[in-house]
Amino acid sequence: MPFDDYAETDEFAVAETERLLGRERRVEDQDENTLRPTRWADYFGQNKVKDNLQVFIEAARQRGEALDHVLLYGPPGLGKTTLAGIIANELGVHLRITTGPAIEKPGDLAAILTNLTERDVLFIDEIHRLNRSVEEILYPAMEDYALDIMIGKGPSARSIRLDLPHFTLIGATTRAGLLTAPLRDRFGMINRLELYSPEEIGQILQRDAAILNIGLDASGRNVIAERSRGTPRIAIRLLKRMRDFAQVRGTGVINAEIAEFGLKALEIDAKGLDATDLRLMRNMIDMFGGGPVGLDTLAATTGEDPVTIEDVYEPFLMQIGYLAKTPRGRVLTRLGWEHLGLPCPTQYERKLKGLGTALRGTDAHDFSDGEQLQLEIEP
Ligand code: ADP
Repeated sequence: MPFDDYAETDEFAVAETERLLGRERRVEDQDENTLRPTRWADYFGQNKVKDNLQVFIEAARQRGEALDHVLLYGPPGLGKTTLAGIIANELGVHLRITTGPAIEKPGDLAAILTNLTERDVLFIDEIHRLNRSVEEILYPAMEDYALDIMIGKGPSARSIRLDLPHFTLIGATTRAGLLTAPLRDRFGMINRLELYSPEEIGQILQRDAAILNIGLDASGRNVIAERSRGTPRIAIRLLKRMRDFAQVRGTGVINAEIAEFGLKALEIDAKGLDATDLRLMRNMIDMFGGGPVGLDTLAATTGEDPVTIEDVYEPFLMQIGYLAKTPRGRVLTRLGWEHLGLPCPTQYERKLKGLGTALRGTDAHDFSDGEQLQLEIEP
């Protein structure tokens, strides 16, 4: 089929939307480096994390010591790598970036650690995917800045201890629960990054549009910010796609009209939900009466990977109050039903209330507001 014809099909639209809304880094995100803030002033949002880190960095700098190890967790594309860069910059030290799966053997990690200089920052992305034998090397390195190396084999084997420079490890993971307890305990600071508000995404868009020389007016900015799932990486990607629509179908400037047109063409709805979100919600209703349904069952019926559902789809659906997590499984809230244009059955609402009651051991409570249910139940 010629590409032009293929581009008209539903299959293309779905593939294109999934490509755009995914949070993982892709080839097209290469110029992220030019957009990546290097100073606090350009890093918007995440105020709690930012405020604390600023204090700890200043204290470490005054004492001339390495900053304590930092764990950053949260969905992909929220600015963990960016934050590591700013920390290194503020400390005035080098940043070495690697990922968990790239460090295959203990020797690989030993090579990285021995090449660091005093107070350097080592950033390990996807740290939960570190090999167990590599992880064990990391414990004394983090705690005592030492490397225990075995020389020889069998009865003549002996262990020698090498001193390492005092360094700061910044670990990033999508969920802190994926880390082993001994590794988690060795981090002095554990910070959770939150999804951004539309206003914060708006600030990021404004800065990035200026850097990339993209015409973007306030109305267009608001439309894109509302539909970026609270994720800077998605916002940047949508900004670039909307620039194409503005160039070919508009006047070159992204305004609300062009943004609406472009997002509709990409099948991203008014809340920023894509085809996969809607399929997930629809399956919950069609097959499980709205839930509760277990993660694995949901994954099997939608053909998605459970990790992807948990890391990419759920956080946003929970943030906007369409989905709630309960110990008995995922439930769709009334807002979720209504978004699909379906009335939430009263019988289902009673079930939701029952779930809330069972969990908290209190009187029935009105859980018609999805967000409230999530807050009450989430630990
Ligand atoms: P992660 O490491 O969590 O996957 P990144 O740090 O790679 O995410 O962030 C993706 C992109 O989003 C960066 O290139 C950066 O331009 C932008 N970005 C992320 N967080 C912010 C922020 N708080 N302020 C401005 N831009 C941000």
